[in-house]
This record gives sequence, structure tokens and C-alpha cells, in this order.
Amino acid sequence: MVGIDEVAEKIYLIDDQLHSMSKWGSVYLLDEEDKALIDAGPATSAGVVLDGIKKVGVRPEDIAYIIVTHIHLDHAGGAGVLLKDMPQARVVVHYKGAQHLVNPVRLVNSAIEAQGKEVTAKYGEVLPIEGHRVQAVHEGETIRLGGKQVLKFMDTPGHASHELCIYETRNGGLFVGDAVGIYMVENGILLSIHPPPHFNLELCLNTLERLAKLAPTRLYYAHFGVSNEAQENLQLAREKLQVWDDIISEAIRENAFDDASRRLVAQAGAELEPIKGVESLNPLYEYLTKIHIPLCAAGHIKYYQEKKHF
Ligand SMILES: [Zn+2]
Repeated sequence: MVGIDEVAEKIYLIDDQLHSMSKWGSVYLLDEEDKALIDAGPATSAGVVLDGIKKVGVRPEDIAYIIVTHIHLDHAGGAGVLLKDMPQARVVVHYKGAQHLVNPVRLVNSAIEAQGKEVTAKYGEVLPIEGHRVQAVHEGETIRLGGKQVLKFMDTPGHASHELCIYETRNGGLFVGDAVGIYMVENGILLSIHPPPHFNLELCLNTLERLAKLAPTRLYYAHFGVSNEAQENLQLAREKLQVWDDIISEAIRENAFDDASRRLVAQAGAELEPIKGVESLNPLYEYLTKIHIPLCAAGHIKYYQEKKHF
């Protein structure tokens, strides 16, 4: 059973069962004159995504655009596989990411470097995409999908240097990819999401500020779902970054930089307390505490090492 939800007018959330977990990866389908997906999910989710599209009543061959918020494998890894069923579709991507979709060797290698050899099993095979099917976009560019729906692209670095946020005019909502963190809508938990190698505190804060100025009606998260409290969440995301910055700064002051990672993991772990023991969320809890949070802690630590804050 594919989880489908109409989250705003003509916008459907498809739960792509990322890493075989429910409520962890969102792919959005915009059912306009020109139909578009926001994010592809990894190759291992392609079957689920295609089923979801059909369940909404859209034919995969009618999809005009696969728009990836950034090129990490959980967002863009499946685009090449999906294109086989979408002969008309082009993949829209941040200009800095375009070449890595055409030749994904470096992209896959950098995922292996960060997450180990099991990357291929976890995300599936990343197929190269022919250059003429890749459309690179820059800050301020737009794509019109229909009379009421124009997508506006924003260059929003911080989580990744190749991250786009996408504003949609029909509902006034904003697709944020991973720029605002992970949000577990049902539990109100918001976590930072900054694995190595690109985390940059100043860029992240600047991005969050720019997004707040846009005053979106809602945020469509990649992980996971939709929040109608856009301003509150953007503010919360800023506060979370500040908390981690404080923890690392304190460790540096105490000459305990080696302990900073452990402190970050402990702090984030405490925030996940409300979902600990919730059976349906057990796999996600395990994943977040054992893999995701330590990885993000490493992302922050790397930034401070390079800035030589100590
Ligand atoms: Zn992601």
C-alpha cells in the first residue's frame, strides 16, 4: 500500500518508503497542466513512487519535470531509473549539481565516503542521465506548470551547496528539501540535518532568514510531510542550530572538543525521547539515533575543525 495524501490543492505527498521506512521520505506530485515531481527518492524507491503517481491518477509518461531539491541520493538517486518510465520528463537541478547527475561517479563515491560501502544496497544503482534531459536552474528562475502554478527557484545553501528551495504560487507553499531540517510533523520534533561535507552555519542561518522573509503559508519537508506553521518552524530551525553551536563552543572553551560529538548526539537523542518506544517508529528511531545524528554531528564538527574555532 502506497501512502498518498493530498496536502494542498493539486499537491500530493507520496511516501516513498525511504530505506524501507514509512514517514521518512516525501516525494511530491504537482498535478498541473505540466505535471511535476519534487524529488525523486532513491532508486530503491522508484517502484513505490511510480505506484504512487498512478494511484493519484496520473500517468508516469505525462510527467514533464522531475525537480530535485538537491543531488543527495535519497532525493535524486532514483531520477535516472524513473526517467525510463517518463519519456517526456526533464530533470531540473541546482546548477552546481547538474554535472553530477550526468556523471554520478563522484556523487556515489562521496556518499560511500560518508556512509560506507552499503550505500549501493541502501540507495540502489544511480543511473547517469543524458545531458539534454538535465535542466540546470539558478536563483530566481521560474517554471510555469499551469495557469495558477508557477514554481520559483531559490539558491539555498547550507545543508548542501547545491540545495534549491522551491516556492509554488498556487498555495503559497515552499518545498524546502533538507534546508530547514527534519520535521516529524505528528510529534513536532525538528532536528538539524547536516551531514558532511557541506555544513556551513552562516550559510544555513542566512538561508533560513531568506525563507522567513518569503512568508510561505506552509513548508513541504522532504523528511517528512507538511507543516502549516512555517514561521514557527523556521524560527525553531534557527534555534536548533544555535543550540548545537553553543554545545560545540562550550566544548571548545572547556578544551574538550573531542567530546563535542558525544554531547551533540546526547542532546539530539534527548529530543527524540517522545518517540522512543513507539513501536511503529522504532526503525526510524534506531536509524536516527545510531546513524543519522552521529553523521550530522560529524558534519558540524568538520565545519568547526576547518574554521579552526579552537
Ligand atoms: Zn535528505
